[in-house]
Amino acid sequence: MTVQVTCMLLHHASKHLNAHFRNNPRRLLSMSLTSPEAFSIEKHVAIAAVRRACLVTCTVFNQLVRDKTDTLKKEDESPVTVGDYAAQAVINTVLRNAFPEDPIVGEEGADALRQESNARLRERMVSLATNALQEDLIDGEKAQWGLGSHHEHSSEALLKAIDEGSDTGGSNKRMWTVDPIDGTKGFLRGGQYAVCLSLIVNSQVVLGVIGCPNLQIYPANPDEGKGCIFVAVRGQGAFQITLSGTGAIKLPYFPPEKSYVLQSEEPKHTNMPLIKRVADELHLTEWGMDSQAKYCCLARGEGAVYLRMPAPTIGGKQPYEERIWDHAPGSILVEEAGGKITDSEGAPLRFGLGRGMGDNRGFVATVDEELHGRVVSAIKQAQSTEDAKKTKATP
Ligand code: AMP
Ligand code: MG
Repeated sequence: MTVQVTCMLLHHASKHLNAHFRNNPRRLLSMSLTSPEAFSIEKHVAIAAVRRACLVTCTVFNQLVRDKTDTLKKEDESPVTVGDYAAQAVINTVLRNAFPEDPIVGEEGADALRQESNARLRERMVSLATNALQEDLIDGEKAQWGLGSHHEHSSEALLKAIDEGSDTGGSNKRMWTVDPIDGTKGFLRGGQYAVCLSLIVNSQVVLGVIGCPNLQIYPANPDEGKGCIFVAVRGQGAFQITLSGTGAIKLPYFPPEKSYVLQSEEPKHTNMPLIKRVADELHLTEWGMDSQAKYCCLARGEGAVYLRMPAPTIGGKQPYEERIWDHAPGSILVEEAGGKITDSEGAPLRFGLGRGMGDNRGFVATVDEELHGRVVSAIKQAQSTEDAKKTKATP
């Protein structure tokens, strides 16, 4: 089903894209990334951190398939690969060198890696992170961010860097969020995943950078290859560059595709039956994808809606509380590409509550305002139908 939908999408998208590039041949390749705008240094630091973390994840993926010992289970049963640890070590090392005072809210902690039984995994993390940090500098990168071959990185320093991500978040501060591999399940199955970084100031996301190593650069033209970095700065728009840091394209880069609702691939992460009902009502087709790559595709114009609704809870379990690192970068990307994002009742997202986002009322992101209102209404309608069914079923 997903493959079919993807093929349909690529076919449809190619028509838009081909027309677009005929009229504007690589019009934005020369877009400057160096103008002295707000958060300019932060933007360059974040791009460097995400780009180098993507080097880690790509290396790990190529080896992981052959070596199952590179995967651990966390207490919540989600798979954590050596890639998550090494990518967070890279990002936090760069942030610590560039902005020593800034708190970091990161998904991973290094406790498991410190255990003697995980010595091999720890060594792999150190070698992967060190290699990525020591790569030669490219344009826009600075050695003082801990980059280049002159910097040594001890095992202890990298473990400490991972643990720098333990900040509790909050409302009146400047802080970074890090999700080193968002969509670990997608990563493990060779699908979409994302390396995600954002800067939040006083509860407002001001910068988001998302690396998607497995996303086509131009959906219409697979020959261009894969690997994108998405960047958004509050008030400055959103753009896409390649993983090698070139070819800036302003988003959305083709007229928004109005047929698809992007949702999780993983049924445990969302309420798929409810989303199906909303999609049917709005004559949209569901398109399943792991990670914040969904926000990136929406921002590019590849879908009409991103929809995530809390999965039904079983056996009196608490509903899942969404995390700020899973939505902060994607939300600014959608907004800066001209879209709108709220919870499913139309209220603003809350990034100042802590590591979590409070009561889970789902997420609605769209490329246009009018559609956003219609999605919120359709959700309300679908929920009352669901409630009515439940009441009828209760004896
Ligand atoms: P996605 O790929 O969009 O399904 O989202 C992946 C993210 O979902 C992961 O980074 C997790 O942090 C998060 N996640 C884990 N469990 C749940 C859950 N029960 N409901 C919603 N999101 C979850
Ligand atoms: Mg995540």
